[in-house]
Amino acid sequence: AVQNYDVVVIGAGGAGFAAAMEAKKAGASVVLLEKMPSIGGNTLISGAEMNAANNWVQAKKGIKDSKESHYQDTLKGGDNVGNPAMVRVLTDNATNAAEWLRDEIKVEFLPDHLFQFGGHSVPRALIPKGHTGAEVVTKLKAKADQLQIPVKTETKAEELLKNSEGRVVGVKAKTAAGQEITFNANKGVIVATGGFGSNVEMRKKYNPTLDESYMSTDTPGTTGDGIVMSEKIGAAITNMESIQTYPICNPKTGVISLVADTRFDGALLVNQSGKRFVEELERRDVISKAILAQEGKYAYQVWNQAVGDIGKTVDVHKDEYDMLVKEGLLVKADTLEEAAKHFNIPITELQKTIDRVNGFAKNGKDLDFHHRGKLIEMTQGPWYIEKAVPSVHHTMGGLVIDPETHVLDTNGKAIAGLYAAGEVTGVIHGKNRLGGNAIADIFVFGRIAGQNAAAQK
Ligand code: ADP
Repeated sequence: AVQNYDVVVIGAGGAGFAAAMEAKKAGASVVLLEKMPSIGGNTLISGAEMNAANNWVQAKKGIKDSKESHYQDTLKGGDNVGNPAMVRVLTDNATNAAEWLRDEIKVEFLPDHLFQFGGHSVPRALIPKGHTGAEVVTKLKAKADQLQIPVKTETKAEELLKNSEGRVVGVKAKTAAGQEITFNANKGVIVATGGFGSNVEMRKKYNPTLDESYMSTDTPGTTGDGIVMSEKIGAAITNMESIQTYPICNPKTGVISLVADTRFDGALLVNQSGKRFVEELERRDVISKAILAQEGKYAYQVWNQAVGDIGKTVDVHKDEYDMLVKEGLLVKADTLEEAAKHFNIPITELQKTIDRVNGFAKNGKDLDFHHRGKLIEMTQGPWYIEKAVPSVHHTMGGLVIDPETHVLDTNGKAIAGLYAAGEVTGVIHGKNRLGGNAIADIFVFGRIAGQNAAAQK
C-alpha cells in the first residue's frame, strides 16, 4: 500500500509530536508513525521536568537566571563536547517552547515549584502536573486529535527511501499485522525515534562497559532504529559511546525512581555503612560512578518528612511508592533507627551523618561535599530510606544535525528531505545530559524540525 503526505514523522514521543504539530500548523499534511501499540515513548515515562531560563515560575519566586547561565551549565555539564551553536539554540529557545506547551498545548505546570537538577546553577526546571510525562503526552495527543493529525501505532518505520537525486522522499514501514506500507513524503521525513538505551547489543557495540549487567529505565521501543536507518543512507553519527546511567533506580527492575526526586529537595545519599560519598546534586554520571564504587554497588537515599513535604513525591508517585514498600526497597519508619534497621545500616554511623549534615544546613555550607542546593535540617520523623542502583537512561550520541535540524551526511552536507530531533540526535548534550534538558531538547528541536520540513519546497 502507498500513502501520500507532505511530512512523515517517525516516532510518537515528545519530539515527534512537536514536529508533527508545527508542520501541520504550517499547512503541511502530516502523518505520525509509532511502532509500539501505545504512544509517548520515554517522554511519557519520564518526570518530564523542563529547564527554561527566565521562566514564569522563576519570576514568581524571585530566582535570578539567564539564558547564558543555562548555556554555560549545559556545555560544561557535557564536558564541553556538545556543539556550542546547538546548545545556544537549545537554551535560547527553551522558554519559548515551555510557553508553547503551556499556552498552545495546555500543559499544566506547577505554579510555584521548580527542580534544580544536578549541574544547574539555579532551580530552572518546570514541573508538569503529576511530575510525569503523562500530563505532557495526554495534552499532546489531544491537540494532535484536534489538528486531525493521524497517529499510526503498531507501524514500524524500517527504511528511508531516497530518489535518484539522493533526496529522502519517503519511509517504508510495516504494521504489526505484517502489512507493508510506503509513506511518501513530498516535503520531508523527520526522524524522532528516540535513543538506544534498551538495545543491549547496540550499547555494547559503542560502549562495551554498558553491557547486560545494567538494566535500563527506557521503554522497550528505545532501540536506535532511527540511527541505524539514517546511517544506512549516509547519515553521520557521533558521540555514540556517551551513554548515561540514571543513578537512582529500582534495584530489581531498573526503572527510574521518581519518588526519589526528594534528592532535589535535600535528601541524602549514603552507602551501606551509613556514610555520604558524593554530592547529591552532582551530575548523573558522577553520582552513578560513585555508587558503583561503594560496597554492593548500590546506595541508599535518606530523607525525613520535612524534606518529603517540599515536593510531596510520595503522594504524586503513590503507585511507585506502594510498590517499592511492598518490595522492601523503601522503608518508612517513625525513627531513624527503625528505618536503618530494615537495611542493616549501622545507626550510629547514619545518625552521625545526619547530625553532621544538620550542622551544615544550619551554617549554609556543606564542608564535606559542597552541596550546591539547599541542605535541610532533618530532626524529626517519619524517616524514609530507599535503596537504589544506576540504570541506563539516556544515549547522548546519535545523528549529526545542524541548527535547522537537517541531518548531515559524513561529509557534513545536509541530506535533502531528512530532519531529526530529540534523543535520536547526538550533538547537543556532549558526554553527559543534564536533568531537565531532554524535555527542553525535544520541544525546541522538534518544533524547528516540523517548521523547516513544512517550509521545504
Ligand atoms: P524523544 O524524547 O526524542 O521524543 P521518545 O523516546 O519519547 O523520544 O519517543 C520515541 C518514539 O519513537 C517511541 O515512542 C518509540 O517507540 C518510537 N519509535 C522508535 N523506533 C521506531 C520506528 N522504527 N518506527 C516507528 N516508531 C519508532
